[in-house]
Amino acid sequence: MKKMERRNFFKALLGGAASMGFIHPSRKSRIFPEVLLNTPNETGVLVQILGTAQDGGLPQIGCYCKNCLRARKNARYSRLISSLALLDLQEKKYFLLDATPDIRLQSDMILDRLMVEKRGKKNAPHAILLTHAHIGHYTGLMFYGYEAMSTQRLPVHCTSRMGRFLSENGPWNQLIRLKNISLHTLLPGKEFSLTPRISLTPFLVPHRDEYSDTLGFRISGEKRKLLYIPDIQSWKAWNRSIVEETERVDVALLDGTFYSSEELPGRDISKIGHPTIKTSLKTLGRVAKKGKTQIYFTHLNHTNLALDPEGDARKEITDRGFRLASDGKEFFL
Ligand SMILES: [Zn+2]
Ligand SMILES: [Zn+2]
Ligand SMILES: [Zn+2]
Repeated sequence: MKKMERRNFFKALLGGAASMGFIHPSRKSRIFPEVLLNTPNETGVLVQILGTAQDGGLPQIGCYCKNCLRARKNARYSRLISSLALLDLQEKKYFLLDATPDIRLQSDMILDRLMVEKRGKKNAPHAILLTHAHIGHYTGLMFYGYEAMSTQRLPVHCTSRMGRFLSENGPWNQLIRLKNISLHTLLPGKEFSLTPRISLTPFLVPHRDEYSDTLGFRISGEKRKLLYIPDIQSWKAWNRSIVEETERVDVALLDGTFYSSEELPGRDISKIGHPTIKTSLKTLGRVAKKGKTQIYFTHLNHTNLALDPEGDARKEITDRGFRLASDGKEFFL
């Protein structure tokens, strides 16, 4: 890519996100919440998907594979790194589930949705919940520190092992020393409330654990439940049944990092470290067919065959009753 083209790409990336309606929304998108209030499924709890790419994002740095080229050419196909916002619309409070390196754009998505226009205020989240210590899931914390927003005692909920990692390593321990954040320990299996309308149950999942253990979450709102597992080694390696856990909820957002082992030529399939979408289609086929639970794949690697909107992989997913998650997608719980 020539220098000029590259500059245009970054412009398009930001402009493209805006045209999707979540960065600088038009007046039209600002009346969106009122429109939704009239729908029968309306509740005071909203889950907003802030990103759907694996930790490296899409396009990935320096990569010129088909998917990355498509995403550079047209920002519609780019994806921010996986995380969720949990919004209590009544209390105008929001919570982040993971803090990604794309957090600045993602914060705008949330504040636009909440229609927050408090000039001079920090507009920080009311709390952050972390799944684990891989770069796409916690490094956004740096923007709450001394060099940027400089929050005061922003509650960060994570496991004790994740908390120890943050406390014992720079630059994260500076956030704690300067009281930008305050750590709260999550106990796996123990439900807790964020607001009178939103409660969460964290649970441990097997995943590469160099620095921390890894959590998934079940989120309960006023009427519905959502399961969030962006990273897991495999369904078999988990001590719970993914079929049962999926059947318990209305929406499941699951690890869809790779579509199949074919996209990683020469790699040993047993060492991929994620369930492939192909495997999940088989494992959860019966649940998808029933149609009670909507199953979405997220945390998509830049190599993922399902990223081709015209490809066979995408068709296979929808034909079997599953969906690919998209940035900005919302669910009322
Ligand atoms: Zn990840
Ligand atoms: Zn790529
Ligand atoms: Zn990970």
